[in-house]
Amino acid sequence: MASVTIRDVRKSFGSVEVVHGVFIDIEDGEFAVLVGPSGCGKSTLLRMLAGLESITAGEVLIDDRVVNMVPPKERDTAMVFQNYALYPHMKVYDNMAFSLKLRKTDQAEIDRRVQHAADILGLVPYLDRFPRQLSGGQRQRVAMGRAIVRDPQVFLFDEPLSNLDAKLRVQMRTEIKALHQRLGATTIYVTHDQIEAMTMADKIVVMQGGNVEQIGAPLELYDHPNNLFVAGFIGSPA
Ligand code: ADP
Ligand code: MG
Repeated sequence: MASVTIRDVRKSFGSVEVVHGVFIDIEDGEFAVLVGPSGCGKSTLLRMLAGLESITAGEVLIDDRVVNMVPPKERDTAMVFQNYALYPHMKVYDNMAFSLKLRKTDQAEIDRRVQHAADILGLVPYLDRFPRQLSGGQRQRVAMGRAIVRDPQVFLFDEPLSNLDAKLRVQMRTEIKALHQRLGATTIYVTHDQIEAMTMADKIVVMQGGNVEQIGAPLELYDHPNNLFVAGFIGSPA
């Protein structure tokens, strides 16, 4: 587990700034949800945390260490993507083992970690299948399994449920929360779905147009929105 501190972080693509100097503190073990309309900079921010995108200005700290220049492989973060990003030609086992092999983890340890993740996610019977032989929910579990085997200090989820149908989405929300309770790892979960934010978050960060509009517990934002945008996006209809 680890705290995450985002200190005046900016991101520009060419001459266009898309993240305008945001401050966010996430505590050890917290489940934080980053919510906001499409294009507001959620994925860009998450990718900067994972090291997949350079940081134009400001600092990202994991615990008390500035990680701006730490390459993704050496960060204690693991990301789960919207499109699962599974390797179609690899079986479930190998999809989950892949990043550990890259890190030269020894085979017995890989096996132990993959079995453990598969056990937690109910994937033991599917380890020998290819992604195309799985349902959407099962594929999403494999994507989570790939993150779990890394035993990261920080889980990063980028709209992991947006490709699933409504019923499965509700079920997976519960599964992801249960997973968080079981593993206790700090989690940053991105969504554009207000209901997902309200039901899953310990802390919600509302973004708009590259800025943070408000940070607080779900009920706090709902009852006391800072401005009309937050009110319209999250708050009570009154
Ligand atoms: P969100 O995840 O909230 O939908 P993004 O972080 O993907 O938003 O995008 C924020 C803004 O940055 C958008 O205007 C998007 O077009 C722009 N953007 C994202 N990635 C790039 C890129 N690689 N090059 C140029 N612009 C980008
Ligand atoms: Mg996005």
